[in-house]
Amino acid sequence: MEREVGIVGGGIIGLSLARELCKRGISSTVYEAKRHVGEGAERASGILSKAGLDRAGIDYESSIVNELYGAVFHAGNHVFRIRAREAKAYVVDRAKLAETCAKRAAESGAEIRLGERLGKEEIRRLAESHKVLVGADGAISTTASTFGFPHIRKRVLTYKAVYKGAAVEDRYTVGLYFDNSVTRGFFGWTVPYSESLMEVAVGIEDKGKTNSKASFDRFTSKEGIRRVIGGGKEAMRGASLIPLETREKTAKDNVLLVGDAAGQVKAATGGGIIFGVGCAKTAADVIFRHINSGLDLEAYEAAWRKRYGTDLALHKMLHGYYSRVGQSGLGMAFAFMKAVNAEKLLSMYGDMDYPTVTLKNILLRSSGPND
Ligand SMILES: Cc1cc2nc3c(=O)[nH]c(=O)nc-3n(C[C@H](O)[C@H](O)[C@H](O)COP(=O)(O)OP(=O)(O)OC[C@H]3O[C@@H](n4cnc5c(N)ncnc54)[C@H](O)[C@@H]3O)c2cc1C
Repeated sequence: MEREVGIVGGGIIGLSLARELCKRGISSTVYEAKRHVGEGAERASGILSKAGLDRAGIDYESSIVNELYGAVFHAGNHVFRIRAREAKAYVVDRAKLAETCAKRAAESGAEIRLGERLGKEEIRRLAESHKVLVGADGAISTTASTFGFPHIRKRVLTYKAVYKGAAVEDRYTVGLYFDNSVTRGFFGWTVPYSESLMEVAVGIEDKGKTNSKASFDRFTSKEGIRRVIGGGKEAMRGASLIPLETREKTAKDNVLLVGDAAGQVKAATGGGIIFGVGCAKTAADVIFRHINSGLDLEAYEAAWRKRYGTDLALHKMLHGYYSRVGQSGLGMAFAFMKAVNAEKLLSMYGDMDYPTVTLKNILLRSSGPND
């Protein structure tokens, strides 16, 4: 018997949606192009806030690689540090996380079909044969183009490598590097996995002839980054893509988009898992009410924007700000923020996912700069 919901894409978001649907008694099939769940996932990073993981209800314990206490931001000679008293985030193994999501979805009753890259015709047929079709097929979504959803124009091209035997000075702190000559419109980053294993990556805004590998090579030739890598040997490298804006429309007839396919990504950081999983839950709620009481599926659009729209918009503003002012403007902003004790305030009250929570915490809980 045909299942009720077809899901194109078995990344973390599509698999989480399948599980959420099962919990609500709705059957689904996930169609995934890759032969193995999590294949290629190592091209992305896995920095996820503890609070976000717990709120999202993701089963992550077996995927933890490292704990993170803070970040150091570099803009020219200016350095801005955030360091909490306890670990605020994890580095997770992205492939393992995807495998766990697949296991949980399958245990709940979802069907997962691997090695099935769907073309436009197949996707159209699935929309006809299922009550609902969901595109969870990533930033370059065939589902979105099949049904003429608006384009995502702003995106970042990334390039990442992992080094074994690196000279990791502080295994609990991420480095973020804003450098106009290398990481235009985004930033470079270093993520420690252990005392000797280090991820190094860059993102660069896609302006047509952008080449993220060339940016990466320039980034890793900088003195500061060479020092971080030390004598480390490259264990993997690869390019990928991050959407930096939400699609103007994500629901049409019986088709919904979720995760990167919808652009539900924090533009300031490039993180898409916490909000993507949250939006998958919203999609599952709306689909449940659509199937059981006839709710219009377009309710999904307003529902996810109500929950995440303000924070996504604030992330977009933040990204717009640091892209516009560049390295020197950001250096001045860091100097000013240090002067008003923002390092301490953000260390105490910052929330990696929700700028609204950070602002609320700072306004309500701190009574002055010397708290
Ligand atoms: C370099 C980099 C670093 C990142 N760092 C972080 C981070 O630290 N924290 C964070 O939260 N997020 C991070 N992200 C973003 C995060 O990776 C994405 O937001 C997340 O993977 C989105 O999940 P998804 O399931 O929507 O899409 P995807 O992970 O892209 O999965 C889509 C799936 O659909 C499949 N598919 C595509 N087309 C078809 C088709 N036609 N038929 C069948 N299957 C298809 C693909 O094979 C894929 O498995 C990073 C991304 C990059 C590139």
